[in-house]
Amino acid sequence: GIQRFGTAAAFEEQPIKPSVQINHTQLLINGNFVDSASGKTFPTLDPRTGEVIAHVAEGDAEDVNRAVAAARKAFDEGPWPRMTAYERSRILLRAADLIEKHNDEISALESWDSGKPYEQSALAEIPLVVRLMRYYAGWADKIHGLVVPADGPHHVQVLHEPIGVAGQIIPWNFPLVMFAWKVGPALACGNAIVIKTAEQTPLSALYVARLFHEAGLPDGVLNVISGFGPTAGAALASHMDVDKLAFTGSTATGKVVLELAARSNLKPVTLELGGKSPMIILEDADIDNAVELAHFALFFNQGQCCCAGSRTFVHERIYDEFVEKSKARALRRVVGDPFRKGVEQGPQIDNEQFNKILRYIKLGKDSGASLVTGGDRLGSKGFYIQPTIFSDVQDDMVIAQDEIFGPVQTILKFNNLDEVIRRANASRYGLAAGLFTNNMDHANTLMRALKVGTIWINCFDVFDAALPFGGFKMSGQGREKGIDSLKAYLQVKSVVTALKNPAWL
Ligand code: NAD
Repeated sequence: GIQRFGTAAAFEEQPIKPSVQINHTQLLINGNFVDSASGKTFPTLDPRTGEVIAHVAEGDAEDVNRAVAAARKAFDEGPWPRMTAYERSRILLRAADLIEKHNDEISALESWDSGKPYEQSALAEIPLVVRLMRYYAGWADKIHGLVVPADGPHHVQVLHEPIGVAGQIIPWNFPLVMFAWKVGPALACGNAIVIKTAEQTPLSALYVARLFHEAGLPDGVLNVISGFGPTAGAALASHMDVDKLAFTGSTATGKVVLELAARSNLKPVTLELGGKSPMIILEDADIDNAVELAHFALFFNQGQCCCAGSRTFVHERIYDEFVEKSKARALRRVVGDPFRKGVEQGPQIDNEQFNKILRYIKLGKDSGASLVTGGDRLGSKGFYIQPTIFSDVQDDMVIAQDEIFGPVQTILKFNNLDEVIRRANASRYGLAAGLFTNNMDHANTLMRALKVGTIWINCFDVFDAALPFGGFKMSGQGREKGIDSLKAYLQVKSVVTALKNPAWL
């Protein structure tokens, strides 16, 4: 099954043949893999062909109830929040080691279920997961409160305690990276978790959750529910016994879960939502490098990134050359079976996303943007889409405003810095931005002016574990990774003790 868009020699290489067995398709509740209460299952599909990989237990409200009860018990009575922080740290480090050791199988599972290139999973994503778990293992024994000065004869302390049972809902575009961003900080703080994976990609989280148990995580601390949003997801968001909710996905669903949380028990919510991030190429840029970076910023992960550089703003002086060279780069892009060496782009996640992207491409054509290359499906089976570029894109076109979430680059022309700042900020989103320039003054101006949570200068998609990630405006609330993520999983308790002997104040 090689599909070919480019002409890269990589196609001649041997296919990678990872060995992978699917051992876990049930729900993980209280340390045991179990069937769903209803006995129902749903198929998870191979995006290369649309064929069934496995039938997975389908959790719904009753399973969420069971999982939350297990997490509640593990938190209220179990050893996890009561063991020393050092012991918790050791367990997280062991889990990281096991994930690293099983990178091959995990990456194969991830790529099989999601369609992303195996090399991307094995060389980039799973190492990121390992790095992140080690980062949070390092935090586990460094979370502490404060003693603060008091106005009167009081000893005043601020305790930082785990928040309790965390409900977490994750998407399909980076199944395990999203799992790690959610689970890492929650566990480091001593919480118990019920996580609902995306219905398109349930497999890798089940595999990795078992490794956490092998590493010594007590039963009930990490429960994994496979299932659908309106049933399992909504049950988790509205559960009265869930103390905190973390969600990543679309802005529309973010609003739904925020409302469910508010209507139930007012649990605090962090949201990591969509984006329409500008990638700004200034006129001093070395065009070849700028083309390569802008290409990566958009096409990475089949264009299915919340922070994709999906509005490529190019200075008018270099615009035409940039478009020509971007076209040549897109034509060289190696699209094909994610298990082939050298493949840069696999299929889209499913039929729904595939059709949605093709609809956006049609909208782009109808709205008067110029189709530079691509614009159609690739091959006749699976969910492959040609790397597509539109030029002459105007700000008010739908393809310049909506999150397409596919391999569709839109290139816009600008004339000066003030103009590009205004236009880049004229979005309901504010997740990320990229800049390409050697002019430090311009970089500093843009860095201050852009209303976004992450700015990459002369790079893109660099995800350091210590860097907080999240959005301004409708791209979300709160931050993940880094120290900021810990705050979302801690309660703050102020303790005031009267001092009997003011002489020692
Ligand atoms: P989605 O937001 O509907 O799904 C994300 C997660 O939320 C999944 O686990 C899903 O089961 C769950 N969910 C869905 N409805 C729910 C509900 N009513 N209550 C609770 N949980 C619910 O995203 P999608 O439908 O998979 O994709 C649609 C669009 O969302 C994409 O085209 C893309 O634009 C965007 N998206 C963004 C991200 C991101 O990382 N920001 C990730 C995936 C998708």
